Amino acid sequence: MFESLSERLERSFKILKGEGKISEINVAETLKDVRKALLDADVNFKIAKTFTDTVKEKAIGQNVLTSLKPNQLMVKIVHDELAQLMGGASVDINLKGSPTVILMSGLQGSGKTTFSGKLANLLKTKRSKNPLLVACDVYRPAAIEQLKVLGEQLGVPVYSDLESKNPVSIAEAAIKHAKLHGNDVVIVDTAGRLAVDEAMMNEIAAIKKAINPQEILFVVDSMTGQDAVNTAKEFNDRLDFDGVILTKLDGDTRGGAALSIRSVVNKPIKFVGTGEKMDALDVFYPERMADRILG
Ligand code: GDP
Repeated sequence: MFESLSERLERSFKILKGEGKISEINVAETLKDVRKALLDADVNFKIAKTFTDTVKEKAIGQNVLTSLKPNQLMVKIVHDELAQLMGGASVDINLKGSPTVILMSGLQGSGKTTFSGKLANLLKTKRSKNPLLVACDVYRPAAIEQLKVLGEQLGVPVYSDLESKNPVSIAEAAIKHAKLHGNDVVIVDTAGRLAVDEAMMNEIAAIKKAINPQEILFVVDSMTGQDAVNTAKEFNDRLDFDGVILTKLDGDTRGGAALSIRSVVNKPIKFVGTGEKMDALDVFYPERMADRILG
């Protein structure tokens, strides 16, 4: 579907054969290809420009290693810089606190409820935790039902209160419930809207203030491309979240949103969603994402 960056560089470096160093002229040509590849991968325009400027500085004058051809060396420089910008290493969630309280944020449809289930499943099966899921979407009874179905499927309890219209008091009551019932992690799934609005932001900020979570995660659909960056910025300005969950990477996006979001909000991407099933969850590895963006 996309021509990979390596293939593009192969073309633009054909003329270069035999040269020992990367020169400014070679780099300028090549970086056009790099920028195009980043834009194809949905990386924000300004970020792609800054990125290629950085790579240019790093690349000019580098000796082409005897083992690498110029195009391979450029791919390596670009790859390493991408991975570095996305954090270099993976970052785990913070499981301190008793109970640990994790607050989910994000737009409706981003995959918050699905990820809440996946995370509960991971903590239960891989980390020997005893999580409690909390349904705080008081506007959509279907969302509460969806979480209950997931909880039942996973054997994880779900706290909800269909009578209450106050998500803050539901979250507070859920934490009390967790303490009483020995749940060591509380995962609070909140209401999202189709676009960022003041009422949603006020509500989630009020939940944050009341329950003081160890971890606020921002869930975002990788298929939303450039919009993902603006949404991330608005949520981060308001919530100062701790990490990002990039969902729907099983789709055909190259995943450039990962680079853009990281550059704009400077928060680590912690997990990626790779399907609708409860085990379709991976730790985020910057190196792998760099490979994916480059193709
Ligand atoms: P919420 O409104 O943020 O709670 O979003 P949901 O968890 O209800 O997810 C919205 C839709 O996206 C559902 O149909 C999910 O099955 C689907 N979904 C969530 N995560 C993924 C993912 O990683 N891959 C795919 N293909 N679908 C996902």
